[in-house]
Amino acid sequence: MSNYQRTVSNKVSCFGVGLHTGVRVDLALLPAAEDAGIIFRRIDIKDKNQIISANYANVSNTLLGTTIRNEEGVHVATIEHLMAALWGCAIDNCVVEINGPEVPIMDGSSEPFVFLIECAGIQEQKKNRRVIEVLKEVAVYESDQESGGYMKVSPGNDFSVDLHIDFGEAVISSQNCSFDTQTISFKSDICRARTFGFEHEVEHMRKNGLARGGSLENAIVIGKDGVLNKEGLRYRDEFVRHKVLDCIGDIYLAGGHIQGSLKGFKSGHALNNKLLRKFFADKDAWRLVPAPEVEPLFLAQ
Ligand SMILES: [Zn+2]
Repeated sequence: MSNYQRTVSNKVSCFGVGLHTGVRVDLALLPAAEDAGIIFRRIDIKDKNQIISANYANVSNTLLGTTIRNEEGVHVATIEHLMAALWGCAIDNCVVEINGPEVPIMDGSSEPFVFLIECAGIQEQKKNRRVIEVLKEVAVYESDQESGGYMKVSPGNDFSVDLHIDFGEAVISSQNCSFDTQTISFKSDICRARTFGFEHEVEHMRKNGLARGGSLENAIVIGKDGVLNKEGLRYRDEFVRHKVLDCIGDIYLAGGHIQGSLKGFKSGHALNNKLLRKFFADKDAWRLVPAPEVEPLFLAQ
């Protein structure tokens, strides 16, 4: 595996429902030129700019997922699981065509998107991959200080994510996951982890017109006495693994591969984006470097 940029070899399509809209959406991945990055194209929009670049600066909402929006207000929501799959398959450049405002939720994880990318095939390109080296620690904190939530990035030889969650509820309680590309495989250890929600929250969201597409087919739902999904969990600590998946997807909005260590406590989409904004605003915190020579494990599988 070299350090060159990659795109998908062929156009490949899938469809599903949006988690919040409940509406059917068709999605296609298409090859893109070197240095194009990940670009969303809302093909159902005819009278405005269809293009939304998958960049942290375009993030417009982080409440129940990550939404990006262009300057004409055209947006696409819940992009993080697809972004994580693109990162996991080391796809630098790709056009994502979509005919609705939300990426389909599929089974609530990144696995169907990894499968889609593998079906498309992967094409190596001629230019070097964009690697962003972290030069100093940057941290952001939850505005509600009492929660203790934070997210930070610091220098490291490789990309790693260390997250700790604490929901206080018996089913999830406190979980920790340390992901690094040398010892943990994105494909077998992270990408299958599904999104999750609490039964009482789901009812509340439905009343407010959200989670319309949500079901036990595409999310883990936690009730008073435990997980409601008959099949149980895919990993013992699936919840924190999904938070790592979300973090990887959100951080890939950096527009390149971060070389550094991420660490978070009770973090989520909002802190992930806040961190990228602060990090890139500080010119002393990062630099672009030639890609490293060592082949990370997640590419080898
Ligand atoms: Zn998620």
